[in-house]
Amino acid sequence: MRAVGDPIDVDVLIVGGGPAGLACAAQLPGHLSCVVVHQDSEIGKPVRTSGGSWVRDLQALGVPERFYQTIDEIEIRSDHQRSFHHMHHHKMAVLDITGLYQWLADLAREAGAKVYTGAKFQSTVKQGDHYLSDVRQKGQGDVQYRSRYVIDASGTPRAVLASLALGKRAERRGVGIEYEYEILEAPTNRAVLFVGNPVLQGYGWIFPAPNNHLRIGVGVIHPDTDLSPRDIIDPLLTPEFLQGYGLKLGARIQVNAGVIPSEPYDARLVYGRIIRVGDSANVATPTVGEGIRLAIEMGRDLGQRLCDCADQNSDRPLRNYQKRWQKRLLVQYLFGFWANRKIARYGVADWDQSIARVARLSESQLAGLIRCELGPKRMISAAWAQLKSKLLRAVS
Ligand SMILES: Cc1cc2nc3c(=O)[nH]c(=O)nc-3n(C[C@H](O)[C@H](O)[C@H](O)COP(=O)(O)OP(=O)(O)OC[C@H]3O[C@@H](n4cnc5c(N)ncnc54)[C@H](O)[C@@H]3O)c2cc1C
Repeated sequence: MRAVGDPIDVDVLIVGGGPAGLACAAQLPGHLSCVVVHQDSEIGKPVRTSGGSWVRDLQALGVPERFYQTIDEIEIRSDHQRSFHHMHHHKMAVLDITGLYQWLADLAREAGAKVYTGAKFQSTVKQGDHYLSDVRQKGQGDVQYRSRYVIDASGTPRAVLASLALGKRAERRGVGIEYEYEILEAPTNRAVLFVGNPVLQGYGWIFPAPNNHLRIGVGVIHPDTDLSPRDIIDPLLTPEFLQGYGLKLGARIQVNAGVIPSEPYDARLVYGRIIRVGDSANVATPTVGEGIRLAIEMGRDLGQRLCDCADQNSDRPLRNYQKRWQKRLLVQYLFGFWANRKIARYGVADWDQSIARVARLSESQLAGLIRCELGPKRMISAAWAQLKSKLLRAVS
């Protein structure tokens, strides 16, 4: 029997009850014991993200329709240009974040995981084949877990890696704020992205969400700018602005705010038996900072690999996990971040030109651009443009 103060033995300790950590936990079979520690007092609250996603991906992930609003029109506006797209095959979705994350937590519990809220991971040390991790847990004080694996699913803080001084903290970060309202009158099938003044160095969005809600948000990148998104959004929300988008809004229901790493995908996922997943490995797209569907898919993949490790009594499957995601994201995101840094310097005229070009894209080209899934032709032309600008700089 475990004496008070003795470490609690588990196979897998997951730090962070966001989509990546919960999806990983739900994939582990009952014979692998798993604890998820989550610092907030509820799963999915406060909301630290917006909920833009894609219907097809959510269907493939088995996310029930009640957790998203389907969007079949995308409008992108700069100061003097508009680009309007009917989406027939690549429909967007806007998620009910709290509902979705709580559903993911239910799946994790059904699979046998223990999900503790109000439980903040402090640090970990290696002890032989295991890790001893300290967690400050609501109502229990300091609790120690002894686990074979520790999964860093803590998002931007990379709490586990940071405690072991592993990897590199993202210096460039996307910082966003979003106000969520009740809708009195607004198109509920149209998402808007807006760029140019006054969100230069960032972008804004208007997303109709489930339950007759609408979210208006702004994101910027620090330290490209030292403006806070709140400084931008508050003066922006004038009656003229709302009227310009055909919006009549009721009460403000909540404020959602968060931070994501805004640096290229970090391909090293496995440090012995410390493994990272989701935003702790910079998984959100460089184009619009979209990471929820990827975090869920990556979390499930990691869960499956951990089952394989247990079945094969070897950590070899973890190498395949790292390889698979490197192949899928590394090159795409390198190009994406090159573009991301470039557009962070755009002025009003650059944005106008850019949106005029976007207006000529087909539906699937637009979806590819937003999702940062660039075809080889686009990557070659981006590489050429980058090389050309480097040469010009060197010559001048
Ligand atoms: C403003 C903003 C808007 C965004 N908009 C979109 C969007 O429209 N669509 C989209 O798909 N993605 C969006 N993203 C990105 C998306 O939120 C992330 O990619 C996704 O949440 C990553 O999931 P995750 O599980 O890896 O990390 P997270 O969702 O960050 O979950 C990690 C959890 O770990 C917890 N945690 C951290 N440290 C500790 C600790 N020491 N101990 C215990 N728990 C800890 C945190 O509280 C957090 O809840 C947005 C992000 C931001 C900031």
